[in-house]
Amino acid sequence: MKARILVIEDSPTQAKSIVEMLEDTGFSAFWAEGGVQGLKMARIEEPDLILLDVMMDDMDGYSVCRWLKVHEATKNIPVIMLTVKGEVEDRVEGLNVGADDYLPKPFNESELEARIYAALRSKMAREKLKKRNAELEEMFHKVEYMAMTDALTSLYNRRRFCDVLYREFASAKRYDNHLSCIMMDIDHFKNINDQYGHPAGDEVLKEIAMLLLSILREVDLAARYGGEEFSVLLPHTSKESAKVAADRIMNAIRRSKIDIGTQKFYITVSMGIASVEDIDSGDAEELIRCADAALYDAKKSGRDQIVIYSTAMSIPPEE
Ligand code: GH3
Ligand code: MG
Ligand code: MG
Ligand code: MG
Repeated sequence: MKARILVIEDSPTQAKSIVEMLEDTGFSAFWAEGGVQGLKMARIEEPDLILLDVMMDDMDGYSVCRWLKVHEATKNIPVIMLTVKGEVEDRVEGLNVGADDYLPKPFNESELEARIYAALRSKMAREKLKKRNAELEEMFHKVEYMAMTDALTSLYNRRRFCDVLYREFASAKRYDNHLSCIMMDIDHFKNINDQYGHPAGDEVLKEIAMLLLSILREVDLAARYGGEEFSVLLPHTSKESAKVAADRIMNAIRRSKIDIGTQKFYITVSMGIASVEDIDSGDAEELIRCADAALYDAKKSGRDQIVIYSTAMSIPPEE
């Protein structure tokens, strides 16, 4: 595609010869006969480059250039100023108002051509750089997202959960706020895989994730902690309130019929709850260990139930 060049020049004779010269060189050129018209055409036509005369009756080239460079739609169009005045101070003035180059009249064809190519090249390089930066930024966000998200369920992953837990734990301790944690594990999940197949098991995990997101508050953090184990962090939430949330989750899961096409079935989960007040001395991980102890107790007691941590519980052995 031909580069499109706008010539802003108040002398019809000079304009005609410049336009012809440009067309001969292989550009597509069009003409504005004054500053006001030039600004309008620059906005509407979005040319790749502007050749701008300095001495014009309605508006001098410096003012035109200043306008072009402060407006979003035109500021990235390279401007080459053309003038019979070739004095040093005029050149400085042109560059001060943002012109990209300066060419004293009369100029010869090859010099004009060389400067046009140089200006177009640097514009292209700038645009390429901008695009590349945008791509890099997008890639960065994608990588960041992937690093903290579980691919199957789109919930946060264990790593992200722990990051947030450390922060919330420190804050809860410091400001004496409530903070509760629910650990939840699907009952006999292995049987579901064995009976309906692994893809069906995956569907169950996705369904549970969606259910968690629909039930929990925005400030609560649900994560896929591991295989078929989910964790929920509830900031500013007492043990009693966490139990209410856990009950809601439990009932929703009990009620929801898993539909994998040919088969329909129900599942149950077990949950353990612990709160920051359970921990006298210990770090954020202790909160997970306590919730895990309660979950272990729920499993031992027959599954499909919620157990709240108490100090009498033993921490389960590492798996
Ligand atoms: P329990 O009630 O004691 O928790 O029994 P369970 O069968 O749920 O527990 P177990 O730890 O014996 O088995 C967990 C199963 O979860 C085994 C594993 O193959 C399955 N699993 C883990 N991750 C995934 C996954 O991403 N997709 C599917 N489909 N299955 C998974
Ligand atoms: Mg003039
Ligand atoms: Mg399980
Ligand atoms: Mg498990």
